[in-house]
Amino acid sequence: MEDGLQDEEFLENSSLTGVDGTMFFGGTNGFNLFHPYKIVDNPIPPICMITGLRIFQKPVFPHQKILGKTILTKPISETREIILNYKHNVFTIEFTGLHFEYPEKNKYAYMLENFDKTWQYTDAHRREATYTNLDGGKYIFKVKAANSDGVWNPVPAELIIHIIPPFTKTLLFKFIILSLIILVVFLYFEARLLITRRQKKLLQMQVAVRTKEIRRQRDEILQQKEQIEQQSHEIRRMNELLKKHNIKLSEELKGISEARVMQKLLDYNEFRKFFPNKDACYKLLANLKWGKGFTCKKCGSTKYSVDEPFVRRCKICNYKESVTAGTIFHHLRFPIEKALYILIITSTGRTINITQLSQTLNLRMKTCWLFHKKVKKYMNERYKKHRRKKESWIDLLLMEDSGTPK
Ligand SMILES: [Zn+2]
Repeated sequence: MEDGLQDEEFLENSSLTGVDGTMFFGGTNGFNLFHPYKIVDNPIPPICMITGLRIFQKPVFPHQKILGKTILTKPISETREIILNYKHNVFTIEFTGLHFEYPEKNKYAYMLENFDKTWQYTDAHRREATYTNLDGGKYIFKVKAANSDGVWNPVPAELIIHIIPPFTKTLLFKFIILSLIILVVFLYFEARLLITRRQKKLLQMQVAVRTKEIRRQRDEILQQKEQIEQQSHEIRRMNELLKKHNIKLSEELKGISEARVMQKLLDYNEFRKFFPNKDACYKLLANLKWGKGFTCKKCGSTKYSVDEPFVRRCKICNYKESVTAGTIFHHLRFPIEKALYILIITSTGRTINITQLSQTLNLRMKTCWLFHKKVKKYMNERYKKHRRKKESWIDLLLMEDSGTPK
């Protein structure tokens, strides 16, 4: 065997000590001897070196790009510092101890500063260390070796490893996220404040508009009320005016109808429709004379009896009064209706064509002329007495100074 032993096994009862103190041990493959006074410890520790780097179990060579990044620019044994990013999350560091006396008996201890709490021990059969899923940050890999006699080299080999975390795990990212959250919260409250302010403003505007509208309506109503009052006042005034006007109008109408009647009476044929015979004329006279009652011209009694038509007899003194008594027709010697026509014609004051009148009435011209003269004379008397410019023909029927019969 490399370390000089005959084999791993020795046999029982196959040892002896020589006279000089040399000790013999027999085994399955021969024997070994040593002199206890000649045994000395090997005092030289091995020098430890980092000899390889694997990522995802694949060896990394200088200038080789692993997942888009060059990790080594020179052999790993000459490299002091490497930079990995979060994608290189499984890596293995290989190391060895430079000591050639029984190197398979070398011991190793390693630790990743900032990750391992204590040294990790391993032997010559497993000279590597694997790390997975490290957080971002700076780490120092240290490895030291001891020789077969357990003499440790106090100076470890070192490799500084920087792990660049994913952006989502950086402080900057956390800061940005926090800032965003703060910003969102701030914006949320700001927006709410803005909305509230806007709503308040909108409400105020609505209230203002409504108030204005109500004021306008109130003003309108007041105005309408005023208008209505004014109108009702106007209506009252108009009504009064209308009333006055109506009175005037009815008076005018009365005047017009009287004038019409007068116009009709002036036409003999029309006249005959009103006064077709002497009874019609007598009725008119009777109304004029006795319409308000009978008074005896002799004794002043108001009691009377009617023995014959259009004659009234006093019940006290038996005086008989005819309907023509005291009228302009007293002692008339031609039909009373013709005389009434002449009176009406004469009362207009127009010039009379006696010839035409005589033909119309079928009367002698002299008869027409005399009665016309009589009416005219009476009109003059009345004018001198009353100074009335215009008189109705009705006024000419009753003689004022004929209190007593002739
Ligand atoms: Zn009498």
